[in-house]
Amino acid sequence: GHRPGAAALNTALGIFGGTFAPLHNGHLRLALELKERLGLALVHVIPSAQPPHRDRPQVSAERRMDWVRLALQHEPSLVADDRELRRSGPSYTYDTLASLRDEHPTRPLVLLLGDDAANQFHTWHRWREISDLAHLVFVERPYEPPAPAPELVAHLRGRRAAQIDQLHMQPAGLWLSAHIPPLAISSTRVRRLLKAGRSVRGLVPESVIASFTHKDISLLTHDEEPAID
Ligand code: ATP
Ligand code: MG
Repeated sequence: GHRPGAAALNTALGIFGGTFAPLHNGHLRLALELKERLGLALVHVIPSAQPPHRDRPQVSAERRMDWVRLALQHEPSLVADDRELRRSGPSYTYDTLASLRDEHPTRPLVLLLGDDAANQFHTWHRWREISDLAHLVFVERPYEPPAPAPELVAHLRGRRAAQIDQLHMQPAGLWLSAHIPPLAISSTRVRRLLKAGRSVRGLVPESVIASFTHKDISLLTHDEEPAID
């Protein structure tokens, strides 16, 4: 007979990675909107311990993880996932997805990527194999027009954009573009405002703002130009 919860056991899981220096409301809205629109059971929010494609942030991975935990405290459908902090070396998304695939052998995994990440996707470690481990969902980002690399387009060509319900019928291999109401927030903008001594209220969750120490602000603003707008 029908067991309640049995369907949920195989409902797709979202995976959302980032540097989160610091986490802001654009991140939170992306995870919540896609969780709801795609019908995901949960979204794992995973800070990159050692981002392979950018300078290592001055602020520690532990501190960035603290902000993810604080922001997700009251969001039962979003999971603060520290698996990249428990590995050494560069934090490759391929390895992260492989470890989630070990835990969930048949469950659909959906990797959520802002367009700026999507535009760089073809430079990621084992990027072609990433779509064997997860579906890819590309999200429009304000001021970052989608400019998918020819390598990525060629890799996806012939595989038409999927419908949302198809994501739940197979474990990996499909892709689609999702539109969510845009929020013009970036961590860069938050760091520049902090550098200029300005408020970041409304851009960053209150719990995260309340946790900022002088040391956090000094590490976050180390290399930033102050905001002039
Ligand atoms: P930075 O300015 O330091 O690069 P960021 O705001 O881009 O920070 P990241 O941690 O680099 O944040 O991004 C993590 C993921 O979140 C990426 O896939 C990025 O495209 C996405 N993202 C960040 N901000 C937004 C936003 N406002 N709307 C949609 N996607 C976003
Ligand atoms: Mg970024």
